[in-house]
Amino acid sequence: LGESESVQGLSPWLLHPFDPGVGKSNLLSRFTRNEFSLESKSTIGVEFATKSLTVDSKVIKAQIWDTAGQERWLKELRDHRDPSIVVMFVGNKSDLRHLVAVSTEDGKSFAEKESLYLMETSALESTNVDNAFVEVLTQIYHVMS
Ligand code: GDP
Ligand code: MG
Repeated sequence: LGESESVQGLSPWLLHPFDPGVGKSNLLSRFTRNEFSLESKSTIGVEFATKSLTVDSKVIKAQIWDTAGQERWLKELRDHRDPSIVVMFVGNKSDLRHLVAVSTEDGKSFAEKESLYLMETSALESTNVDNAFVEVLTQIYHVMS
């Protein structure tokens, strides 16, 4: 989250993978520009995009970073035990029902075990993309204010 008139110095929300190719960059482009690309091109370094949205009737400008990332992310994050870090578990490509890699049930039990909020999205069909971002950005806003 970036600066706006009323909100200063909020941490960026990092989009991180457990695997490349899960659709992080497309979730970001769908949310910020309403764009989707069928081409797969891996993210090199960090890319970011911004979007303004209203949370608790305040306009905030979210700066969202998209990284190539590392596999151990969740554990490293948890090891920091920083209460200001908000983690959300997103199951993307929900449109590919016939090729499901992680069943909703497995996803749910993982989310429960790790105390994570779970949301199934499709960047392709625009399903739940706004909901997922608004949820995590609202949580960040509440943690920071
Ligand atoms: P990243 O490596 O996690 O950033 O993944 P990308 O956003 O680059 O997406 C990798 C591939 O998956 C691309 O070919 C996208 O078109 C495709 N993709 C991303 N999101 C979805 C989705 O919701 N549904 C489907 N069917 N394909 C998707
Ligand atoms: Mg990417």
